[in-house]
Amino acid sequence: MSKHLRIGVFGGTFDPIHEAHLRIANAALKQMRLDKVLFVVAAHPPHKSRRKLHASAEERLAMVEAALADEPQFEASRVELDREGPSYTAETLEILQQQHPTATLFLILGLDSLVDLPKWRDPERILAVAHLLVAPRPGTYPIPAVLDGRYTLLDLEPVEVSSTEVRNRAANREPYEELLPPPVRRYVKKHGTYES
Ligand code: ATP
Repeated sequence: MSKHLRIGVFGGTFDPIHEAHLRIANAALKQMRLDKVLFVVAAHPPHKSRRKLHASAEERLAMVEAALADEPQFEASRVELDREGPSYTAETLEILQQQHPTATLFLILGLDSLVDLPKWRDPERILAVAHLLVAPRPGTYPIPAVLDGRYTLLDLEPVEVSSTEVRNRAANREPYEELLPPPVRRYVKKHGTYES
């Protein structure tokens, strides 16, 4: 009999993946007894289309793969990279559910993303396919009433780190390496990913 897997789905632009992402995935894994967490790298994130992404999709994937190399329960996913057009989370979740028909899916997201979720494409489809696991984030976030009682807040100290902070520090030639997992530090140094 195949095991009934509990799979975390952690979507993001990961431009670049940073320490807070790993802490969140670890908290979700332990607190919700997940079997694994898929890091789904967004190719064409609809909500970030106005801001140019710094690193290419393949570079962002390579950084995620580097960060996860020694984490057997974490896996990088190309599911959104191998698909044309915008990456809608509802569709991604349905594809993953088809690939793992007996699995229970948990969508992992930060509080800032939860607040926006009702404006994403097909929020009800998202809620039908996955349980929401939410990471607190520093700041005040007014949670839309439609989400009341429909998510689990992870027990985790809010962490200030963001990819924006990494990119801003790099642009200003300030140190940013401490915000990155060591293999990602080595990757960006070798390739000069955020140098220009
Ligand atoms: P950017 O600064 O480029 O917007 P980001 O740091 O928010 O990026 P994303 O790749 O967009 O990183 O994040 C993927 C997911 O991780 C999102 O759901 C986001 O809310 C969440 N997340 C990222 N950083 C944190 C953090 N410090 N605390 C809580 N959630 C976070």
